Amino acid sequence: MSDKIEVREIKPSRPRPAAKTKMGDQPVHPNNTIYVRAMKGVFQRLRRYGGWFLMALFMLTPWIPYQGRQAILLDIEAQQFNFFSVTLFPQDLILLAFVFMIAAFALFFFTTFLGRVWCGYTCPQTVWTFIYIWFEEKIEGARNKRVKLDRTAWNFEKLWRKTFKHFCWLAVALVTGITMVAYFVPAPDVVFGLVTGELSFAATFSVIFFMLATYANAGWMRTIVCTHMCPYARFQSAMFDKDTFIVGYDVDRGEARGPRKRKEDYKAVGLGDCVDCNLCVEVCPSGIDIRNGLQYECINCGACIDACDQTMDKMGYEKGLISYTTEHRLAGGTTELVRPKLIGYGLALVVMMIAFVVTANLRVNFEVDVLRDRNQMFRETNEGWIENTYTLVLVNKTQQATQFHLSVEGLPPHEWSGPQQIEVAAGDVADVPISLAVDPYELTSPMTRIEFVVTTDSSDDARRVDSRFFSRR
Ligand code: SF4
Ligand code: SF4
Repeated sequence: MSDKIEVREIKPSRPRPAAKTKMGDQPVHPNNTIYVRAMKGVFQRLRRYGGWFLMALFMLTPWIPYQGRQAILLDIEAQQFNFFSVTLFPQDLILLAFVFMIAAFALFFFTTFLGRVWCGYTCPQTVWTFIYIWFEEKIEGARNKRVKLDRTAWNFEKLWRKTFKHFCWLAVALVTGITMVAYFVPAPDVVFGLVTGELSFAATFSVIFFMLATYANAGWMRTIVCTHMCPYARFQSAMFDKDTFIVGYDVDRGEARGPRKRKEDYKAVGLGDCVDCNLCVEVCPSGIDIRNGLQYECINCGACIDACDQTMDKMGYEKGLISYTTEHRLAGGTTELVRPKLIGYGLALVVMMIAFVVTANLRVNFEVDVLRDRNQMFRETNEGWIENTYTLVLVNKTQQATQFHLSVEGLPPHEWSGPQQIEVAAGDVADVPISLAVDPYELTSPMTRIEFVVTTDSSDDARRVDSRFFSRR
């Protein structure tokens, strides 16, 4: 059984925020500017391609059409959530609850197994930040140039580069804001409404809100969001154990760190494999030094692994001084992949997925509700018959128009006023007012239990809904 990683205070080898880097004395503390150095490598490729893919998926999804409408549209006003051929109504919110529970247990499972891979590779905050850094890199240049540019007094070069960078950031933020709202309001309406000024106040406000939030989070705050605002960063350590994969530095192999000549017998002078090139710090988006041990700011992005592997390659040393590893492995033991906590989260995840599938399969194609007239229990007609009034609410949950047939059981011979057959459009709700009138001599008590029976042309399903017929007897 795995133990929890004990909490210990790490004394940084370099004082922060004024840690020295090869660039001089620019701060690397997350509260200050972090000049992230671009790095090539396996994990950075995975992040870059994965990030672009996720962003494209997010931006293009609202534009996917399906049977003449938007494939995914969460129409709050109409209380309908459309997912391709499935339309969910407020009555189906249990399915949405299962989706959230599945997502939560999947997060627990993968965090226990692979650490903060969600943070490093798929979290929107990370993905957008990396895309913003990509623009920064393309417009202002590599890390060294950016530091130099920031230190230079304002001139034309600095002005146009900074202006263009912020213009690109704002453009990405605007597209993000529009896309967010396009999940709730049809995408063409959002774009057209913004251009013509006809978009509703709520939708316009939402676009501006998401735009500014994206610009501030990915452009300015970056890892401050991860370290100070994200609750997941705080409680994820509760899921970690000594067999969780983390990004770790092999202290025994790396220390004592220090510069040396490539061909030098460094071991003879008491040095380890770390050449103290500082690359692992310069590429870190969180501005930390992983050689100080596991820190809560680390998002498991693997940039320092790629950086260090590059240095190891150049020096002709074996790769993996920094690697995805576990506390047990770093301590010289072996990693236990299958362990009770992981099995527990895995089982909970499977149970939730089964519950979701079963609930989805039990979901009916239509719903019926019966509302009695609240103002009047009954009334007497000119012929002296007793009349009760109802509203039948028919919810067509399918993607096709459906013909409904209505009848009532449990009532003596009666007169039915109102439609007994009605077509309801795909995903629509119809209110059908009806009245039932009965000769009072046919009634044996002041209250008769009745049952409305609703059938459709398209399925064998029959829905029976209890109600009451009141009279004065
Ligand atoms: S320490 Fe390494 S893995 Fe952690 S955030 Fe920094 S670069 Fe990424
Ligand atoms: S990148 Fe590797 S060699 Fe360079 S300082 Fe970091 S741990 Fe040491």
